[in-house]
Amino acid sequence: MIDFHVHFGNCFRNMYPQRPPLTPEQVIDRMNRQGVEISVLLPLESPEVMPGYFLTEQAIEARDHYPERFIAFMGIDPRQRNLEEQFDTFVNIWGCKGFGELLNGLPFNDERNRAIYAKCDEYGFPLVFDMCSGCLTDEVGLPGLEACLRDFPNCIFCGHGPLFWTAISGDDDRTGGYPDGLITPGGAIDSLMEEYDNLYLDLSAGSGYNAMTRDPEFAQGFIKRHWARMLFATDYFIVGQELPQFEWFAHLDITDEMRQAIGDGNARRILRLDDQ
Ligand SMILES: [Zn+2]
Repeated sequence: MIDFHVHFGNCFRNMYPQRPPLTPEQVIDRMNRQGVEISVLLPLESPEVMPGYFLTEQAIEARDHYPERFIAFMGIDPRQRNLEEQFDTFVNIWGCKGFGELLNGLPFNDERNRAIYAKCDEYGFPLVFDMCSGCLTDEVGLPGLEACLRDFPNCIFCGHGPLFWTAISGDDDRTGGYPDGLITPGGAIDSLMEEYDNLYLDLSAGSGYNAMTRDPEFAQGFIKRHWARMLFATDYFIVGQELPQFEWFAHLDITDEMRQAIGDGNARRILRLDDQ
């Protein structure tokens, strides 16, 4: 299996010692216990959401220690200088394979974020983004995301976060959170998945888990429609964190082909692991 969404480092400077830094060794240990072969390490380098940083350099260093187990993405705050040069250096010198996790207080369709999408488009890279409260903001129906899906067709946008996943339901009013009601058909995610093949679904965290479990009957149909672009992922970043995705995925009533794709093959394809 491939876990497409993992962080480590001192993400909670404010909560020491209740939430001590997570180490790469703890991540490897958890992967070994839960049957994960490869984890994608997503740096966190924007100040609005996290009270600490997980730097791209840390992800690269861990990947170099465990090259069979970790893939390093890059994180760059789009308000920093020399974005394009940083991006090219992380790809060509340091071997980063994608961008994310993108989470900052700018609108999703802001020019500064679009500069990142343009670089991902140039390299054909996956980009993991998090729409949460006050972060990568968009309107009902996700028109900002849609404009970017259209303008950057070679960027593989991997959607994540409460304000992404509540758009699974036609009644999404951008309140976000973790609603427990039944899903209203006609949500923005379904229509964007139908129209744009560069949109993928990151199943991690409470947001992905809630979207897949709040209305099991709807989820069955949703998975049948979109399994070829779903990515198993946890968002592991806290010592001792509960990861209900494993249990959910193990008991999901789907074909072997779908299970293989969601758990491994889709990630392998967009990371181009078999081309190397
Ligand atoms: Zn995350």
